[in-house]
Amino acid sequence: MSAHAPLRKIIITIDGWSSCGKSTLAKQLAGALGYIYIDSGAMYRAITLYFLRNHVDWTKLRAVEEALRNIAIEFIFNPNSGQSETFLNGENVEYVIRDMVVAEKVSEVAAIKAVRDFAVSQQQAMGKGKGIVMDGRDIGTVVFPRAELKIFMTADNAVRVERRFKELYAKNPNLTIEEIKANLEMRDYIDSHREASPLRQAEDAFVLDNSNLTMKEQLDIALRWARERIKGIVT
Ligand code: C5P
Repeated sequence: MSAHAPLRKIIITIDGWSSCGKSTLAKQLAGALGYIYIDSGAMYRAITLYFLRNHVDWTKLRAVEEALRNIAIEFIFNPNSGQSETFLNGENVEYVIRDMVVAEKVSEVAAIKAVRDFAVSQQQAMGKGKGIVMDGRDIGTVVFPRAELKIFMTADNAVRVERRFKELYAKNPNLTIEEIKANLEMRDYIDSHREASPLRQAEDAFVLDNSNLTMKEQLDIALRWARERIKGIVT
């Protein structure tokens, strides 16, 4: 390859348990490589928000299918925050989809096959031009099984609970650490035991345990993997 040949673009997938810092790493990586970051969990959260607001009975397939026809999700870049934000039918829902009310139901909604088919086809379309980092639970296994770089993130339970608590407590000081712990355990259980594309590690994924890593250390490791893949070196 000549020194001036444009670098090839790849797809990077980051899957793993709830609150392992997937989105933090995905944003860092996308920023460092000039890639687009897509938060697939935000789509499941936005769908859940729509179902809750519109009293959709998600145990009934017909009701789910009808509701999905009325849902449009977009990610729009906000130059002020430097991040892309989630829009549901034209409304910015980036903040409200992080509420506990949504977190309590999202794994139930995300286990519905019709919901997954709806989200996955849009996620695949977003990856057509490559140059993306997408985080979630089934990105390396189902959405982009041929992605050039797959990362599976994990961290000690206590570390994850503590991180989530700090993040959510700032918004809602009434939350207790027990509630956060119970929510993470419930989501991990449902996410890894559901029939439709359960959370599991892709065979060709690199495992990144960030329990004892700083943000810079985890970025350095992931960037090294990414650059090797971009250059076409497969280790
Ligand atoms: O990533 P985040 O924690 O925001 O995702 C919220 C929920 O959405 C997860 O607990 C999981 O139930 C669901 N999800 C999923 N598949 C993805 C991303 C998220 O099932 N690719």
